[in-house]
Amino acid sequence: MTMVFAERLREAMIDRGLKQVDLVRAAEERGVRMGKSHISQYVSGKTMPREDVLAFLAGELKVDAAWLRGEQPSPHAGADGKADGKPASDGDGSLPSPVPASTRTAPSGEASSSSDDDYPKRRRTFGKSRKLDNVLYDVRGPVADEAMRMEAAGTHILKLNIGNPAPFGFRTPDEVVYDMAHQLTETEGYSPSKGLFSARKAIMQYAQLKHIPNVTIEDIYTGNGVSELINLSLSALLDAGDEVLVPSPDYPLWTACVNLAGGAAVHYVCDEESEWYPDIADIRSKITDRTKAIVVINPNNPTGALYPREVLQEIVDVAREHQLIIFSDEIYDRLVMDGLEHVSIASMAPDLFCVTFSGLSKSHMIAGWRVGWMILSGNKRIARDYIEGITMLANMRMCSNVPAQSIVQTALGGHQSVNDYIVPGGRVRDQRDLVYEMLNDIPGISAVKPKAAFYIFPKIDVKRFNIRSDEKFALDLLHDKHILISHGGAFNWHKPDHFRVVYLPRMTMLRETMGDIADFFSDYWQA
Ligand code: PLP
Repeated sequence: MTMVFAERLREAMIDRGLKQVDLVRAAEERGVRMGKSHISQYVSGKTMPREDVLAFLAGELKVDAAWLRGEQPSPHAGADGKADGKPASDGDGSLPSPVPASTRTAPSGEASSSSDDDYPKRRRTFGKSRKLDNVLYDVRGPVADEAMRMEAAGTHILKLNIGNPAPFGFRTPDEVVYDMAHQLTETEGYSPSKGLFSARKAIMQYAQLKHIPNVTIEDIYTGNGVSELINLSLSALLDAGDEVLVPSPDYPLWTACVNLAGGAAVHYVCDEESEWYPDIADIRSKITDRTKAIVVINPNNPTGALYPREVLQEIVDVAREHQLIIFSDEIYDRLVMDGLEHVSIASMAPDLFCVTFSGLSKSHMIAGWRVGWMILSGNKRIARDYIEGITMLANMRMCSNVPAQSIVQTALGGHQSVNDYIVPGGRVRDQRDLVYEMLNDIPGISAVKPKAAFYIFPKIDVKRFNIRSDEKFALDLLHDKHILISHGGAFNWHKPDHFRVVYLPRMTMLRETMGDIADFFSDYWQA
């Protein structure tokens, strides 16, 4: 019955054009206790709702509660009694009148063979793939949707939810823009699928500077941002049930892509008490004979942590012991503060197969141009077949954006303007210090000082504010102060006690915003 209910619920939602977030919002407005986790369990067929919640859903979706419950066959049921239709509302919001039991419509997608021409044919509808059932990408999820709705209604929202430097006045270096313009007419055709020679040569030289071993020009693949390559590299590797160790909190694309590729993301904890470094004991405890790889995000989004050599060595030791691939996401490696040095983990693992990801979205403030790359290194012999799969997928998407590839050499060579942002007096560094101090001054909030990137992941004393849902907290802050942050759950952090702030706005704006957040917490009590 649960599965029939789930199927009918999904169908009715599609018919009404309602998303889970719409139903959650309606429930909140009507005082019905039904949160996001409840509705997602109903939709995936894990549980049935209580009667009052079921009645509420039936009312919102304008379908018959009995039909939705799945207890009685639909009036449109086929000869086998299996429901293939549902009573529809007559448009004024009232529930449908009974339909003669003899009336039949054809299953979804088929033309009706009804003998009763008075009865409307059932419309074919299209749902999303089941492959997306375990995929979550809440950084642009329900809270961001609500912010967009508010903006469309004329409210100004300060967005501290996406690491997108350009809207905050971080400008692309002039030379990079000039070179792109200069080469535009020469970059109209496809490039080789791995990328232009000049771009890959520059990335290869960058890999040399980072001491990444055994890298030839053939081991470099450019992509439409690191995002495309995360998806591509996992799709080429994983079979159903393969496990990949992913940090918690993580940049959620990693978890999403592991699951989308049919694998299972197994989260290892990063420990706030130890500067958010990966908990090696936890990593060890989560390894099974299905574990194929470990993902390291260093510098880290959302915590801003930078892992020292000793921590990286422990990860290499575990990977070596269990013969794991290391995927290292290093997109923030040029945004490191306090005079610290970023170490590429691949440089410490010449005997293992490593894939290192980076790009220009953050260091060159050109997130919109979509320039990323991945570097295969170390022991490539053990991954020959996998590399064939990677190349096949890279060929299938033809190539990455060619005008954007044409500036990689310019961007990686010569003066690195990003360096001016991360030293004392530089925007990123000063903004980091301000946000760190102002957040820690709020009673009930504490945050570890970020060492890199432009994120901070503060902890909330949930008892003090009665916080049980971090998503609700994010919505309340949005409604009250018009500030959009990302709740910790969006980063696969499984307690409701964290949120992420992107500290890209200028000092004046940040100071005002942090003041507003302090004001919000001064009397917040989650209802
Ligand atoms: N990896 C991490 C850790 C990120 O934070 C981001 C973007 O925020 C990406 C990858 C995606 O970057 P790109 O713009 O290159 O797709």
